[in-house]
Amino acid sequence: MNTFRPVCWYCGETYEAEPIYTCRRCKGTLDIRYEYKEIFGKAYFEPLSASAGSDIWRFRELLPIWPNRKAVTLGEGGTPLIRTHNILNIANNQSLWLKLESVNPTLAFKDRPLAVAMTAAAQFGLNEVVCASTGNTGVAAAAYAARAGLRCTIYVPEGTPEEKRAAMEQYGAVLHTVKGHYSDAYKVAEEMALERQAFNLTSTYMNPYAVEGNKTVAYELAFQLGKVPDWIIVPIGAGPLLSGIYKGFKEMQLAGFIDKLPRMAGVQAEGCAPIVKAFHNGEAGVQPWSDPVQTIASGIADPLLTYPADGTRTLSVIRESKGIALAIADAELHRYRKLLAEREGVLAELSSVTAVAAAAHMQQTGLLEQNATIVSIVTGHGLKDMSAAINHTKGSVL
Ligand SMILES: [Zn+2]
Repeated sequence: MNTFRPVCWYCGETYEAEPIYTCRRCKGTLDIRYEYKEIFGKAYFEPLSASAGSDIWRFRELLPIWPNRKAVTLGEGGTPLIRTHNILNIANNQSLWLKLESVNPTLAFKDRPLAVAMTAAAQFGLNEVVCASTGNTGVAAAAYAARAGLRCTIYVPEGTPEEKRAAMEQYGAVLHTVKGHYSDAYKVAEEMALERQAFNLTSTYMNPYAVEGNKTVAYELAFQLGKVPDWIIVPIGAGPLLSGIYKGFKEMQLAGFIDKLPRMAGVQAEGCAPIVKAFHNGEAGVQPWSDPVQTIASGIADPLLTYPADGTRTLSVIRESKGIALAIADAELHRYRKLLAEREGVLAELSSVTAVAAAAHMQQTGLLEQNATIVSIVTGHGLKDMSAAINHTKGSVL
């Protein structure tokens, strides 16, 4: 018997484990629910914290994979958590930690959801995957499809960094550039997945199996810190990483492994911040970003044009956690990228730097409590968008 099934996040309708993306009753996105009583019947997390092996598959009972299925893996997860010393003027016994998702096999956190989704694709007997991507999802999809021996087609918007495009092609994926931005690529991928009966791996809340991979960040953080951080700061486009991390902590609370939950801070770039806008205006729902998309943080530049409900789902998680949403200006990203590299030895991609700039902003505005433990998720490696750094440097030479 399966210990998991897709459930509508909105109306609660339940489904069998199959390639399904939206509720047939209300069209809402789905979530995966588990037979927690069965899984947590005896101590679950305690023995794992001391177990050998560090990849995400040590948590496989909490991933939507049937028993005895072979995982499609490149050893994703088990990423370092390091304490910063020099980037912020930390006082009052506060501590800022960086979770280096940038050292996953394809240099971004996306390896977690893509490893799970590709294993799910294999479990459903599918032989083709598609996705829309601003870069990192596509690179991970291409790598894991290669590992699984599945055909992979990726739709990227104009402006996707050359480094990421080249990597996708090296892994053997078929790449199509879509005129416009991410939301346009999303639409084409959705149509093509339907037409070709391919598994859609687009990283929004589109694929409920993929989203589950993000929970493993939470389990690792609790093990590495030995406690629950007060704040977790996450760069967000649509926001499944933020929601996945929070869900992971809720599962640990349900299992009796932890007794509190972290507050979640979602960070966007000022030039594309639909979730932040709704948060600050106190709106119940997120509206599509109607202004031109203008930011160098291409990895989180998602105007949510045809799926604003995905933003609303993330917004509700932020509010449930008593967290915040905030936006960072592009100029700050170049500055903090350099500071992070020079002072901590961490080269992060521009989208990821938002999480560090946000920590500084929260500290300066008095949002962080005395003794607060803060974790910023460094979602992707700086090598993934070096051309932006090179162009920026060139621009500053007289
Ligand atoms: Zn529904």
